Amino acid sequence: MQELSMVDLKNQYLKIKTEIDQSILSVIDSTHFIKGPEVKQFQDELAVYMGAKHVIACGNGTDALQIAMMALNLVPGDEIITTNFTFIATVEVIALLGLKPILVDVDSETFNIDVEQIEKAITPRTKAIVPVHLFGQCANMERIMELAEKHKLFVIEDNAQAIGADYIFSNGTLKKAGTIGHIGCTSFFPSKNLGCYGDGGALMTNDDVLAEKISSIVNHGMKVRYYHDRIGVNSRLDTIQAAVLRVKLPRLDAYNKARQWAADFYNHTFNDITQLETPKVAPFTNHIYHQYTLKINAGKRDALKKWLDDNGVPAMVYYPVPLDKQKAFEVYKTATVFPVTDALCQSVISLPMHTELDEEQLRLITSKVIEFFKK
Ligand SMILES: *Cc1c(COP(=O)(O)O)cnc(C)c1O
Repeated sequence: MQELSMVDLKNQYLKIKTEIDQSILSVIDSTHFIKGPEVKQFQDELAVYMGAKHVIACGNGTDALQIAMMALNLVPGDEIITTNFTFIATVEVIALLGLKPILVDVDSETFNIDVEQIEKAITPRTKAIVPVHLFGQCANMERIMELAEKHKLFVIEDNAQAIGADYIFSNGTLKKAGTIGHIGCTSFFPSKNLGCYGDGGALMTNDDVLAEKISSIVNHGMKVRYYHDRIGVNSRLDTIQAAVLRVKLPRLDAYNKARQWAADFYNHTFNDITQLETPKVAPFTNHIYHQYTLKINAGKRDALKKWLDDNGVPAMVYYPVPLDKQKAFEVYKTATVFPVTDALCQSVISLPMHTELDEEQLRLITSKVIEFFKK
């Protein structure tokens, strides 16, 4: 049996090696490393897949979020509402631009931003909401868009963990996560659901004016070479990465199905273990399991993690510390309390989740988890 790992990029690669190698070699052969034709081809293909009018690739997911905020003309002092339970990147770029992060607690079942608390956090200085579709399922976008409309706010979706997930509107319409707000941002970090072989990211929007601004910001604020219309950044997707992504994009749905199959196996096997809670999926979204995350009751999480480590089963805690309690966040400290995020940071544990998990591996992982609770 293959050694267990949180992600298995190697075996995924081996299945598509011929195509990937050819694709990369053809870019090297062309020496068109920056802004080669594959970048535009990939953007167009991703736009079709997402059902978005415009896709603009960039250097990574963190840059995508920063560029989105720059394109919306957010300025120092503007308040941006986001979740306290996410990867730091979301809040980092808010701070970098001199904007003010306003953190909100999350829903204890889905781990996504608690929409009931967003409205309470809105002030006259609020300019945008940044929901994160955490672990592979969508935040409550219909409610968030209603609030945004009512209070004239922008919505930037952090879709780094849910590319390919569907949002289900109450009238039954489906839209891809990342195409509902004013701008959607995603990451092609290797371990993401659509990962490249280095860093990569993209922004998507249906707004022509925003799309043009974003295209200029990613490339030093220029449209015509050496004529700079605004302050931008240097954040482009390498042609080699676009070439990799063009091979992987047609497989994204199959990759997400493989993750769902593994999640179903986990769910089914853990069905009668009362000491753990399997992931809950909100009715307005499907789940593409960027992470498969359990909640463990009664303060046993760290002991389970150690037991799994000792038994050769990898597991990770996403995330061990709420953003408001990070050292880097001290300057933003407020009196707000986050009981749900605090509890989740003590109780969540993520098991191996990737496209290459097979039944033998899943049996071993689940049997070790179950053994822990029976011992
Ligand atoms: C990965 C990730 C990012 C950042 O993407 P990078 O490509 O690593 O910069 C942002 N937000 C969330 C929620 C992520 O998981």
